Amino acid sequence: MPLLDPKERLSLNGGEADAIEPATGDVLDTFTLAGPSDVEQAASSAAHAQRDWARRPYSERAAVLRRAGDLIQRYEPEIAEWIIRESGSIRGKADFEIRTAAEECYEAAALAHRPIGQVLPSSTPRLSYTTRVPAGVVGVIAPFNAPLVLGVRSVAPALALGNAVLLKPDPRTAICGGHVLSAVFAEAGLPEGLLHVLPGGAETGQALIADPRVRVVSFTGSTAAGRSVGALAASHLKRAHLELGGNSAFLVLEDADLDAAMSTAAWASFFHQGQVCMTAGRHLVHASLYDEYVARLAEKADALAVGDPFREQVHLGPVIDRGQLDKIDELVRSSAEAGVRVAAGGTHHDLYYRPTVLADAGADSGSGPGSVGASAAYALEVFGPVAPVRAFHTLDEAVELANDTSYGLALGIVTRDAARALDLAQRIPTGLVHINDQTVNDEPVAAFGGLADSGTGSRFGGEANLDAFTETRWTTVRATPAAYPF
Ligand code: NAD
Repeated sequence: MPLLDPKERLSLNGGEADAIEPATGDVLDTFTLAGPSDVEQAASSAAHAQRDWARRPYSERAAVLRRAGDLIQRYEPEIAEWIIRESGSIRGKADFEIRTAAEECYEAAALAHRPIGQVLPSSTPRLSYTTRVPAGVVGVIAPFNAPLVLGVRSVAPALALGNAVLLKPDPRTAICGGHVLSAVFAEAGLPEGLLHVLPGGAETGQALIADPRVRVVSFTGSTAAGRSVGALAASHLKRAHLELGGNSAFLVLEDADLDAAMSTAAWASFFHQGQVCMTAGRHLVHASLYDEYVARLAEKADALAVGDPFREQVHLGPVIDRGQLDKIDELVRSSAEAGVRVAAGGTHHDLYYRPTVLADAGADSGSGPGSVGASAAYALEVFGPVAPVRAFHTLDEAVELANDTSYGLALGIVTRDAARALDLAQRIPTGLVHINDQTVNDEPVAAFGGLADSGTGSRFGGEANLDAFTETRWTTVRATPAAYPF
């Protein structure tokens, strides 16, 4: 029996939509979108179901999460096919998503077993303690690029900690980022009403944030949308965890071993067609290595196969849609017209964009992030397979260039001197730093998140999920009623 049975999906009121395979343009499936009345109904049902769920023994919640992790692995071939075909992922990226999604469930199961409070000292004779209580209904809004992982990383811990969840996947990945999870959790024995999948666009997300029963919002997406999500959540006095865009620096110091560095350099910008928040958007390379680095990265880029990841053995698949392709193309073209050298790529057919290396990038970026011209593909988040490279001469200059961005997500440093890299990293504030590795890294046990325009400093993963998806309650207990001056 397959995991997904379209006949079991609820019919929603926001109209029909197609699940499109970006590699071919074929329609893989149709599904319904959520309208405002669906959000309303889902929130009401979730709030009702959550009251009972929060009172269930932790062991029962943990068991559901463990079964969900097992099912994600058991249905790996079917889920992988959806990730590959609906989101344009290569097989390795689908495998990574499935493995990580299962681990997210196991990690969440373990979270349900964790201590949930602290006993406090008190100046009066009473028992005084805090407990973590579920936030209630959690709204999760996820993007298209790693749809399964970026949904489940909030869905799993939120459920494990006694919440109900409304999940709004991007409509471009509604099956692998939404319906897969509802089918997995239904089969894992999650009681009805606790997880609602509501595919839709910005308005559906806004309805979800505004609904009074949704108490916490977990948003992963662009900085522009995150600002509006944060403002709307604030106007409703809700907590919003915002995981946003990036333009991460990948630093190659003068002592780097280029033979060892080229694989990590290429992966940093070309993995999943560069459609990753942690993608290296700026390769900053010591001037003594610069020419060789550009030549070798360009050679590597030219050797990568781009094509249909379901039917061919390729390194890169298609980008998600025409809008994304046009944005990438525009940024590369305007940079090239303004004088940047296209050392590799810069071309496309259909939705297949060649891995691209831009040399002498960012030279006019003195006006800072957001400036255009030659620095466009360097200063802005491209979200495509583009590696802008720029030389630096001193470590101070490297620090200055790395910090010349409004984002603060990831940082990669390649050097033979790890202590020097740690020292350097202290001068470049980001939420994530990887020494002798590239910027695209994720593990469910690690607290993941960005600074500045990359997020609100909130964290997902491991213990951080306790903060994200619970509220703290202070309780005191006295043996007899307290006496006061009147
Ligand atoms: P996007 O912001 O356009 O969309 C993300 C999700 O938000 C989608 O589900 C979308 O429908 C919804 N949405 C859009 N506008 C909204 C609004 N005003 N109110 C409520 N919901 C809204 O993002 P995208 O361009 O599709 O995805 C790529 C972006 O996501 C990149 O900027 C990338 O860096 C970022 N991202 C960040 C992380 C992270 O963990 N920091 C991870 C992956 C992607």
